[in-house]
Amino acid sequence: MADFDVDLFVIGAGSGGVRAARIAAGYGAKVAIAEEFRIGGTCVIRGCVPKKLMVYASRFRDDFDDAAGFGWSVPAPTFDWPKLVRAKEKEISRLSAIYRVNLEKAGVQIIESRAEILDPHRVRLKADGREITARVILVATGGTPVLEPPAPGREYAITSNEVFDLPVMPKRLLIIGAGYIAVEFASIFARLGTKVVIATRGENVLRGFDEDMRCGVRDALIHAGVDIHFNQLLRRIEKTADGLRTQSTEGLQLDVDQVMIATGRRPNTAGLGLENAGVKLDGVGAIKVDAFSQSNIPSIYAVGDVTNRLALTPIAIREGHAFADTVFGGKPTAVVHTNVPTAVFTTPEVGTVGLSEREARAIYDIVDIYEACFRPLKATLSGRGDKVRMKIVVDGATDVVIGVHMFGDDAGEMAQLLAIAIRLGAKKADFDDTIAVHPTSAEEFVTMRTRTARYERATAGPEAPDAAALEG
Ligand code: FAD
Repeated sequence: MADFDVDLFVIGAGSGGVRAARIAAGYGAKVAIAEEFRIGGTCVIRGCVPKKLMVYASRFRDDFDDAAGFGWSVPAPTFDWPKLVRAKEKEISRLSAIYRVNLEKAGVQIIESRAEILDPHRVRLKADGREITARVILVATGGTPVLEPPAPGREYAITSNEVFDLPVMPKRLLIIGAGYIAVEFASIFARLGTKVVIATRGENVLRGFDEDMRCGVRDALIHAGVDIHFNQLLRRIEKTADGLRTQSTEGLQLDVDQVMIATGRRPNTAGLGLENAGVKLDGVGAIKVDAFSQSNIPSIYAVGDVTNRLALTPIAIREGHAFADTVFGGKPTAVVHTNVPTAVFTTPEVGTVGLSEREARAIYDIVDIYEACFRPLKATLSGRGDKVRMKIVVDGATDVVIGVHMFGDDAGEMAQLLAIAIRLGAKKADFDDTIAVHPTSAEEFVTMRTRTARYERATAGPEAPDAAALEG
């Protein structure tokens, strides 16, 4: 067998790449990892972690407001954006340093440079032009924001890459798009004191999520003061004396301080040299891989967002780990991409696992729906208007729960635990047999006894929903 400089060369030190490098090194492989920006990748530096810190910051607004109902007098609070940005920076630097130490402890060589592929076993480092040969190359380069639509002036807009480090918090912010990143930042900035407008091509927020959760988020955003304009396509952005002026194809004109484009992300494969090795991409530029993350070139693998399977941190980590087990641990491991729990960190938030009502109805012959919509206990004294929405989607033929959805406080935490039950194939009867924790919102998941709708594929429509089972 040919001699290589390393057994494994990983391109990209984000969630997937770091995990793969550490586990492979643990199996005794000689590993190098290249990173062109900051160790930790999107999640740690400009994704999940800093976003959640900002979500926490934003939620104090509601806490200050709610406190009065419980007897507190709170002086008018003020907010200091640069202070939050500095605190966030300190924390992500700490995390990045931990990632670095863990890689070093595992014996992984860290190379701070962009790397590009020259052939199936060779990469070149941009920093010094050095070439390194590897028995296996793992591409874990993540994704990058899409600047769509290609409207004139879009260079004035920011994306999620820049939003975390704005020197000044915008007083007026237009967010283009209504996916999870768009609605999360709308929810954050509206609470921090920005006047937020969302403009989206669609007819509701959060395409792909359960319809009722989408409506819950839309209503909560409006309630928090966000203006939402549907069926809008950005036509142009112009600079003005005091900010930016935007126009949409539907005639919506706005004067704002910042425009944030959040219309999606695409796999980060441009300029990577994949064509030099003959690696096949799909229509959106993602690396095509098999269940073991192997590309059509046997020595090149890919994990995480660059493969466009499910763009979530825990998925990238799991794929990276499975790759290392497969290639260096002698344990072929395929990652299952079904029943993946996830959350949308608006306020209140969405937690979900399994199929939406719509997806279930497209697949199963009989689908039973159990729903609850209620005012949480805390809101009785705080006076807050948001209602909790919960939905259980059941295969009517077998009683197996195939989807659980929640819009309400701590829904993300609940989705994590509900995912275990779904993974184990829990039936609705198992939910019913489970004793409640009282008083909580979560107890509704085990006390929803009355079916609110049944959909049978052969019939024209659902049975009439049982109004008594739906409070709101
Ligand atoms: P990344 O973490 O993106 O890492 C790729 C790394 O490769 C980067 O560090 C990049 O600099 C580097 N790189 C790229 N090209 C090269 C090259 N040629 N040479 C060297 N280095 C290179 N997921 C969740 O699960 N929960 C959330 O709440 C969540 N929130 C998010 C919020 C935002 C604003 C964003 C943008 C994403 C969020 N995600 C969330 C998604 C999550 O961040 C990604 O799914 C995850 O980071 C993917 O990991 P990865 O290893 O594929 O890529």
